[in-house]
This record gives sequence, structure tokens and C-alpha cells, in this order.
Amino acid sequence: MPPDQLPAGRQRLIWRAERAFGLKDTIASKRPRAAALQPALKDVDTAPDAPAARVDDLALRGAAPPLFADAQYIDTSAAPDALSESPFDSPVLSTAQKRIQLDVMNDTEVRDCQKCGLSRTRTNTVFGEGDVDAGVFFIGEGPGETEDQTGRPFVGRAGQLLDKMIAGMGLRRDQVFIGNIVKCRPPENRVPAPDEVDTCTPYLVRQLEIIRPKVIVTLGLPSAKYMLKTRSSMGQLRGRWHDWRGIRLMPTFHPAYLLRAYTPENRRAVWDDLKKVMSVLGLADAPRQ
Ligand code: SF4
Repeated sequence: MPPDQLPAGRQRLIWRAERAFGLKDTIASKRPRAAALQPALKDVDTAPDAPAARVDDLALRGAAPPLFADAQYIDTSAAPDALSESPFDSPVLSTAQKRIQLDVMNDTEVRDCQKCGLSRTRTNTVFGEGDVDAGVFFIGEGPGETEDQTGRPFVGRAGQLLDKMIAGMGLRRDQVFIGNIVKCRPPENRVPAPDEVDTCTPYLVRQLEIIRPKVIVTLGLPSAKYMLKTRSSMGQLRGRWHDWRGIRLMPTFHPAYLLRAYTPENRRAVWDDLKKVMSVLGLADAPRQ
């Protein structure tokens, strides 16, 4: 069927994929007709340059009501289930409460952390950033050189591609949360050692417990292996749903790998993974899974 005769939702998905991944060799390269785009516009910011749908309108935020009338810090570092594999049984936090918990964790524990050897070679810790009410939490392996210099996750070339992937989902970077398995750059960008991962990941687990995303997307094999406690290959893991303490988890390729192997097959694989995520998040136009 010619692209311009496809259903409007399908046309929008194709257009997103092209903008995000340049899949022009496999799908239509034509921007959808204005009429085809119209149904989606009720869901997005009406500002002419608004790049993505609003989270509120897309029902991405968690539905749980705030449990705390006043924002105050609660020490979760000693929570007995902090490292267990059990589903969450700690309270759901309000947006203000989440921000405070995360800020305090960063200010008092992570920023000057010296718990493992990576502290000796780093410039800055990279705590992670994004919407504390994000429906999706992206987890990479560890900071690279640019991230080490800036203290921000995924801001180098791989980060720019991740931004495109996020935009392809109809979101902005500040509508998701982005973090890493370890918060300090491993020298020469090597894979973090098991003891470094074991020492650092309690921070990540606490971030996940505070934010409680609807979906986790692991970027690359090391983060998938850690979260799923598996030795499987990326080929075996990606493209299907896994479970992390009751949260749906989708492994996909790391953007840095995609930059090295920028083939239509790999780009299509990532886009297929992200479409599954979009479906669970209830994002407009995502096909049913
Ligand atoms: S990698 Fe993690 S545990 Fe190690 S020093 Fe950095 S913040 Fe601390």
C-alpha cells in the first residue's frame, strides 16, 4: 500500500522513525499529510516549535496520589528491601518528595562518593537527570569522557543519538529519566568491574525505587546483564519484555553501538524496541503489543 494511503497513525509512526533513525531506505520518506497529523495535535503542545507531546496529556505520569502533605526527606538508604528482588513495598512519593530524596542522595552521598576505585580517576560523578515522574527510565553502562567533564549523562555523540531516539518516541529529554549503572567514568571507557558495579548500583536501585518508572529501558548489554542477572546475549535479550521487581524492562542497543554499526537492521531493531515501549506507555500511535 502506498505510504500516503496508510492509516494516519501508521504514517505518523513512519515519520517519527525517519526523523529519529533515518530509515528512509526501508519505509516511506514522505512527511504525513497535515490532515493525517491532525489527530495527534490534540495531544501535543500547540506551540509551533514544541518538539514533543506533553507528558500530562499522554498519561505518562504515575497515577498514585501523593502520600506526603509536606515535602520532607526520608532516609531510604537503610530500607530493608533496597537491594532485594522483591516488588516494591515502600511508599509512593509525591513529586516534591521525590525531588528532595534524589537531591539529598546526590548532595550527601553520591557527589563526593569514594566508595570504589573509580573515584580516583573521575572528574565528576554523574548522578543522572530527568523527570522524577518519568514513565521511562533509561539505564546506560557508565559515563564517558564528555559526561565525566560535565557531570551529566548521555551528552556526547551517543547522547545526541539517544535524544533522537527519545524524540522519535514523541518525548523530550526532560520528560524521561536517564542514568547509568555506575556514576563515575571507568578509565578509557572500559566496562565497569564487578566490584565497582556492586558498590555503585545501590544508588541506582534507590533512584528506581524513588522514581518508580512504568518502564525501564537498558541501553547496551552490561546494563541489561546487571538488571536481569543474566549471561544471555543482546540478541537473546532485546526485543522482548523482561521484569525487574514488577517493572517492565526492555533491553535495546546502546546508542554508542548504534553509532559504530549504523545499519538499517540495527536502527530498525531499536525502533521496534522503542515502539513496544511506546505501546506500554500509552504514547499516541503506538501499535498494540
Ligand atoms: S562509581 Fe559509584 S560507588 Fe564508585 S566512587 Fe563513583 S559513585 Fe561511588
